[in-house]
Amino acid sequence: MVTLIRGGWVVAHDGRRHRVIPDGEVAFDKDEILYAGPKWDGTAEAVIEAPEALVSPGFINMHAHIGVELMAPFIDVQRARRYAPSLEFVQNLELPPSLTAEEQRISGAFSLVQMLRCGATTIVDAAGSGPIWWLGNPPGDEEMLLESAEQIGARIYASLSYRSGRVYRHFDGTPDWHFDEESGLEGLRRAVDFAVRHRGTRGGHVETMLCPHAVDNCTPALLDATKRAAQEWDLRVQIHCAQYTHEVKLIQDKYGCTPVQHLANNNFLGPEIILGHTIYTSGHRFVGGDPNADLQLIADSGASVAHSPLPFARAGEAMQSFARYRAAGINMSIGCDIWPADIIAEMRLTYYLSKTQDASAETPTCQEVFDAATLGGAHALGRTDLGRLAPGAKADIVLVDLGGYHLGQVIDPIRALITCATGQDVRDVWVEGRHVVVNRRVVGADEEALRIGAKGVYKSLIAASRSRDAAGMSPEEILGLEYTPPLLS
Ligand SMILES: [Zn+2]
Repeated sequence: MVTLIRGGWVVAHDGRRHRVIPDGEVAFDKDEILYAGPKWDGTAEAVIEAPEALVSPGFINMHAHIGVELMAPFIDVQRARRYAPSLEFVQNLELPPSLTAEEQRISGAFSLVQMLRCGATTIVDAAGSGPIWWLGNPPGDEEMLLESAEQIGARIYASLSYRSGRVYRHFDGTPDWHFDEESGLEGLRRAVDFAVRHRGTRGGHVETMLCPHAVDNCTPALLDATKRAAQEWDLRVQIHCAQYTHEVKLIQDKYGCTPVQHLANNNFLGPEIILGHTIYTSGHRFVGGDPNADLQLIADSGASVAHSPLPFARAGEAMQSFARYRAAGINMSIGCDIWPADIIAEMRLTYYLSKTQDASAETPTCQEVFDAATLGGAHALGRTDLGRLAPGAKADIVLVDLGGYHLGQVIDPIRALITCATGQDVRDVWVEGRHVVVNRRVVGADEEALRIGAKGVYKSLIAASRSRDAAGMSPEEILGLEYTPPLLS
């Protein structure tokens, strides 16, 4: 059945770049775009009129932690907890699950609904470790997430995260690392099995990748084994890189280089690699050294960066800068990390933070930020059929209502999207040609039940963190429980 969308503006891809077509049209049949341009001259069985909407390719959220969001506001209040409280803690991680299977399902589904409502049609799960690793997850949590993705209609790139090391804190507060090589390699084996079993399943809604957790908690042997597995099975790889100053210090002390240089020295970088965050590169004011060295290594290798400015901005940290990385030739993409999962808000922050870091009004442009959230993500995933509206591309389409009072007069719709819109302005979404958000409601989910269920999940997580506390860890070290969560007060 051919569906035709008549929009106020259509972002059509001409084979080289996006072009905005006023009063344009998009036609699609099943999961495929047939036409994006000024006027479709074929017939259509269904016509959607959207005279005040931007018709955009679906956004690609390149770095999400699906299911973590419910806990994230609480973590945010406590500040990000980056160390385990003791060596004993990281050596004894056999934690009972803190959520029931149903709570786990709600947690994942809630995240997917939130992201989809904001226009993210492809969501890359960057950790695949359920709510929060130190609270324990029920078995089979990732499989449950795949079911939810199919039911709700989002496209996800799922993974099982793995690592060989964990950071803990000595009594005097200094961080240290505990490594277990065999558990890391076993994690990789399970992750490959999961990725190969589930890739391309569930009607195009599920793809997979590998996610070794971070540069500082994966040994060179694990990085090497990951690289070989990715090549053998043709999988993309996302790894958290240069996200914390303590990570930079560990790599510097141990290997005498930056995290990016460490990956390059281990022949890990390449077009299949996506570097999450990647804030503390050489030349950053907290790192020092040649401002171009790390960026050149990334650009020359063809690796991509998944930029998530918001969680770092909360801690007063920032990449220096989106525009500079782009100018160095790095393929930039955008993700939301944890909370709130509004890809449009993340684009706006990308736009403004980059300018403030560079003290520049000129770069980046709104178009460059828009490209990162669409074409940049697609390129990182090796997909020429995503992030664009063009014949043959997947029918992943977002209608953003630009008629709201807060948008004022729309002169340039991409500029209006980046500087004025939010996820709340997303009206309709199609993924693989399936109409999954209809007039701001996700039709494949009981939104109200999820919203109520999410409150219960949050309480369970708080209760679990308290019982972990009772098991001998000090409150300040776990989650700073002197703070009374609003839902429990
Ligand atoms: Zn992350």
